[in-house]
Amino acid sequence: MMEALLESGIDYAVFYYNPNIHPRKEYELRKSENIRFAEKLGVPFVDADYDCEHWFERVKGLEYEPERGRRCTACFDMRFERTALYAYENNYPVMTSSLGISRWKDRQQVNGCGHRAAARYPGLVYWDHNWRKSGGSARMIDIGRRENFYRQEYCGCLYSLRDRNRHREATGRSPIEPRD
Ligand code: SF4
Repeated sequence: MMEALLESGIDYAVFYYNPNIHPRKEYELRKSENIRFAEKLGVPFVDADYDCEHWFERVKGLEYEPERGRRCTACFDMRFERTALYAYENNYPVMTSSLGISRWKDRQQVNGCGHRAAARYPGLVYWDHNWRKSGGSARMIDIGRRENFYRQEYCGCLYSLRDRNRHREATGRSPIEPRD
């Protein structure tokens, strides 16, 4: 996404707000990879808070929802709402997201949250471009290899780590070790 936006001549910044990622070391690792690439491309990087206490409050009662379920809607809503506020307060007319590029995500669910958040502010647009299309998914994999990016093995939250480990154990593989 970052390379494609630059090639299109779009002036943008990365807004990193992912209080869902657990544990903290995993959060820092994913963030440092994003900073590394932003610096390489000369793209401004806005580091928002690791607001994980509020994230846990927001998804309370949804701990056993499956991925793509109601917990994920609450998670996307929270992150898009913060992004939309930042965009509005800092005069960005458009926001978009890398969330939908993953084949594990429901694009309709992601886009619904993005549009809902942008609608809170007059003039702010959520760009629901399909980043998977026109070779986007393959390009993401190629760039990941080229840049030797860390490859995450679960979506991000404590509950996705739990569920991924259950699946791994059921298929005879060793669990992903939490990083702190
Ligand atoms: S599985 Fe992913 S999208 Fe869903 S709540 Fe956890 S971190 Fe958020």
